[in-house]
Amino acid sequence: ISWTSTDGWKDRRIEKYGPLQLDPATAVLHYAQEIFEGLKAYKHSDGSVWTFRPDRNAARFARSAHRLALPALSVDDFIGSLAALVRTDIAWVPDGEDSSLYLRPFMYASEAFLGVRPALEVEYLVIASPVGPYFSGGVRPVSIYVSEEYHRAGPPGGTGDAKFGGNYAASLLPQREAQEQGFDQVCFLDAATSTYLEELGGMNVFLVMDDGTLHTPELGSILEGITRASVLQLAADRGYQVVERRIPLAEVVSGLESGTVKEFFACGTAAVVTPVGRLAGATFDHEINGGEPGELTMAIRQELTDIQYGRAEDRHSWMRRLA
Ligand code: PMP
Repeated sequence: ISWTSTDGWKDRRIEKYGPLQLDPATAVLHYAQEIFEGLKAYKHSDGSVWTFRPDRNAARFARSAHRLALPALSVDDFIGSLAALVRTDIAWVPDGEDSSLYLRPFMYASEAFLGVRPALEVEYLVIASPVGPYFSGGVRPVSIYVSEEYHRAGPPGGTGDAKFGGNYAASLLPQREAQEQGFDQVCFLDAATSTYLEELGGMNVFLVMDDGTLHTPELGSILEGITRASVLQLAADRGYQVVERRIPLAEVVSGLESGTVKEFFACGTAAVVTPVGRLAGATFDHEINGGEPGELTMAIRQELTDIQYGRAEDRHSWMRRLA
């Protein structure tokens, strides 16, 4: 769908996949005025195709658009575009346990103009790709390096709560350096004080404490994950007390030493709920739960995927049929 400041959104269309032609002065190439979303389409055993809480992705996309001075896209256009793309060929949505069609809606400043101001021409597109299980051969706990050197976005008022490519660009170097040291992922601390846990490059984080409470970093400068919101709900349904707060890294490290932190997991659309088996930083290195997936971590993971794949009752009306 194309937008101009004079005509608004128009020209809703489906095109064959192929390269875009961009003027070298296209604004997004210079000032990174763009946003995106990530969702999955799941095939259920009766052949119907569903997605998970797309109203939340639409709302987050609208917030990201506002922050990046991009035009608002209606919820109907957002969800309708996903359905329209999936319906072009539902054979595109793979069958099978833990397989899905990844959907990537995005919006970018397409105007060829080098002045620094919001673009007057914008494009919204959706592309898709079948994806298999994130972990081949079973879920494996990941290792995380906490970076005290780099930040991904900024303090509240920055772009951390927007799904904006610049945040991901800033996470590439820390991610590469962590991988070179043998870690799977980087965890970022708050940009204002480098004291509190924030999130990974593409996942939110949770702690399970020995008193039966679940803790996750509060919103403000992190991405408001849809998996995060769903985990908070599923844990509360099970009777766990859930706490959204500022979590000092020092408290996590001492909790791992003393045993008050029992499980640590990360969550997001791509990897669902992923156990963390090792947390390290410049001055500490701890194994978590003996390097094994935690019990509650795996129970929530199972429950969430059962809802997504239609194997369990959708008691919160999270699923939306696309085809
Ligand atoms: N944090 C960041 C930085 C992310 O990119 C993602 C993935 N969208 C998440 C958290 C998890 O969000 P969600 O559960 O909506 O996929």
